[in-house]
Formats: sequence, structure tokens, C-alpha cells
Amino acid sequence: MYDYCIVGAGLYGCVMADGLAKRGKTILLLDKRENVGGNVACEVKDGIVIHKYGAHIFHTDSKRVWGFVNEHCEMRQYCHSPIAYNDGQIYNLPFNMNTFYKLYGADMPSQVKELIEEDRVAIKNPKNLEEQALALAGRRIYYTLIKGYTEKQWGRSCRELPASIIKRIPLRMTFDNNYFNDKYQGLPEKSYNELIGKLLNHPRITIMTGVDFKEHKEVLEGVSRHIIYTGSIDEYFDYCYGVLEYRSLEFRTVRNTHTDNSQGVAVMNYTGDGISYTRTIEHRHFMKECNSPVTWTTTEYPAKWEVGKERYYPIGDEKNLALYARYKALADKQDKVEFGGRLGDYKYYDMDDVILKALERLDTIND
Ligand SMILES: Cc1cc2nc3c(=O)[nH]c(=O)nc-3n(C[C@H](O)[C@H](O)[C@H](O)COP(=O)(O)OP(=O)(O)OC[C@H]3O[C@@H](n4cnc5c(N)ncnc54)[C@H](O)[C@@H]3O)c2cc1C
Repeated sequence: MYDYCIVGAGLYGCVMADGLAKRGKTILLLDKRENVGGNVACEVKDGIVIHKYGAHIFHTDSKRVWGFVNEHCEMRQYCHSPIAYNDGQIYNLPFNMNTFYKLYGADMPSQVKELIEEDRVAIKNPKNLEEQALALAGRRIYYTLIKGYTEKQWGRSCRELPASIIKRIPLRMTFDNNYFNDKYQGLPEKSYNELIGKLLNHPRITIMTGVDFKEHKEVLEGVSRHIIYTGSIDEYFDYCYGVLEYRSLEFRTVRNTHTDNSQGVAVMNYTGDGISYTRTIEHRHFMKECNSPVTWTTTEYPAKWEVGKERYYPIGDEKNLALYARYKALADKQDKVEFGGRLGDYKYYDMDDVILKALERLDTIND
């Protein structure tokens, strides 16, 4: 008998497993994938650390989360500065004076502010994402850097997407290409596998990979006192109210032997609509040093989701949030199982959010 069966060895499951093991609990941690780490899992090829499920950059304002991560894994400084490509031109991201200089040819913040103001479309109550973006950032920024990327990402026209997806568009009036505003930012010195390995390095944790909970539900419920479920909440309840919708991604990872530097930057976003992918990651640029004579790239293709495919981004519109609320009400009535992580909560979380959620949950477990 285990004290806990944790379903899903992503960050949420691993932080919970570590904390519970430190509290003297026994844990059976399982994942249907063949590897632990969930979406932060990495693999090393030709001496290059490959982020298997897309670029993962750690950033947080939480001292507690940053302290926790550094306790388990050596982190190093990394400043994320992606590039946007559209129609043969490149632009710095996030939107800052370098971007505006390229877009408007103006190099003074006061000038740029005026130009953006002139370019804005006066729409009082934006009815969709397009109107919202035109009202907030103006035509040039919207058509060059937002429209194509967003439509590919969500598989729908910006006119069909809710305005609420974009609450505000930060326009940075300094020449600063650091993508994130958070106080603490970085990457593991080695890889996220080190963080996961340290979290799971307890004799009280038994790990099983390649095991799908739903195929062994009865047995697993029988051998554990509590269940922490980090898979999709609707799947746990056999979709009794319906299916929560997601957007999926396909990753195409390629070993390039003709060059050791194919794009000169870790992340290149493709913001035009003539190209079907949204971004290409060149993994070696996440590393401080890399002497490999080859280079590995991963291109991300947004994809339609259906049950059975990997869930990446929750659709999170009114219909789906109402459905989630019904599952949440059902979940609250269970005494043996609790839900957590991005799939259990049906919410997009960054890594720091998930870690903080797990730490706060652990704070409440004292016995
Ligand atoms: C493309 C992409 C890029 C991202 N980039 C960043 C970034 O740069 N910075 C950042 O902070 N965050 C980023 N994130 C978010 C980050 O990936 C998540 O915050 C984090 O991985 C969530 O951890 P989790 O444990 O909740 O979920 P997951 O990592 O998804 O773990 C859940 C695990 O549960 C397993 N599972 C599900 N159902 C079952 C079942 N029935 N039986 C057994 N196992 C099951 C799954 O296989 C999975 O391994 C990104 C996310 C995506 C999709």
C-alpha cells in the first residue's frame, strides 16, 4: 500500500512527490510517457540539450520558487531574446524600441509613441481579438507581428477569437530585448532532467513509466490511500459531461549536419501567414557553451486537437470554462483523489506557477 499514487511525472507531480517523500510518505509515481519530467523533459544528442516539448525558459518573480529550483538544480543566467521573421524581414521581440525602429524608422521614444498613436484604430468596445489588437497596438504591429502568428497558433481567424485573449500589449519604450520582465530568469546549467532527477531521488518514491492510469484504474486505486491526478480532469471522469478542448502541437526535430549554426538565435518566431509553423528552436543557443559540429532544430506546428492527441494549450473560452467548472464541482466531492497541474486545473501555467501551486499544496499537508 502506498500513501500516494501520483498520476503524471510532470513538474507538478515531481514537486509533490519530493515534498511528500520528505514528509515520510510513500509514493507511487506513474506516467504514461516513457520518460519523467512531462513537458520539461530534455534529451542530449551530439552534446546538445534538446527541449523535447518546446523551448522552456525559467522565469519567475517568486523568491520562493527561485530558491526551490536553485536548491535542486544549478541554474545559470540566460536572457531570452527571440526574433520574429516576416516576409524576409527580422524584428526584435518583445515589442521594444529595436522593433519600433525597424517598423517605423523612428529612434526616439516620443516619436514612436506618436506614430503608434496615429496607427491605432479607435475602437471603443473591441468585439474580437483583431479589434482589440488594432485598438491597443495599431495596424503595423498587428499585421506584421501579431495576426499571422496568432491565427496559426489558434487555427482560427483573429476575428473569431475573443478579445479577452489579449488583455494588454506591452510596448516597451527602451532598447531592451529581454523577453521576460521577471526578477529571476535562467536555465538549468545542465538540463531540466537534473531538476527532475533530484526531485525524484528518494527511496520512498517508486517510479513507473509507460503506464496509463486509466488502463489500470482499479488496481492503482486499490494500492494507494490518496491519488494526486495531474492528467486531464475530464478524462479522469470518463468525459461524463463532455470533452474539454485543447490546441495541440507537432514538433519536428531535425539534425542539421551542413552547419553548426542555422539561425543564430534560440527561438525564431514566424509571424507571417505564408508559413505554416509558428517557431523554430535551435537548441544549441540555449547552452552557454557548445562545441558540437552539428546543430539540432525543432520546428513547432500548431495542430488541431482531438482525444488521443497531446494536449498543449487549453482553449479556455466561455464554453470550456463552464464545462471545467462542472468537473471541478465533481472533483471537490471526491475524498480520495485531488487534481493539480496544468491538465488537472485546465489552465495554462508557466513552470513557476506549477511549482508554486505544488509548494502551497504541500504547505497544507502536515500529518
Ligand atoms: C510548447 C510549450 C512551451 C512552454 N514554454 C514554457 C516556458 O518557456 N517557460 C515556462 O515557465 N513554462 C513553459 N511552458 C509551460 C510548462 O510546460 C508547464 O508549466 C509545465 O510543464 C506543467 O507541468 P505539469 O506537471 O502541470 O504538466 P505536464 O508537464 O504536462 O505533466 C503531466 C504529465 O501527466 C502525464 N499523464 C497525463 N495523463 C496521464 C494518465 N492517464 N496516466 C499517466 N500519466 C498521465 C503526462 O504524460 C505528463 O507527463 C510551456 C508549455 C508548452 C506547451
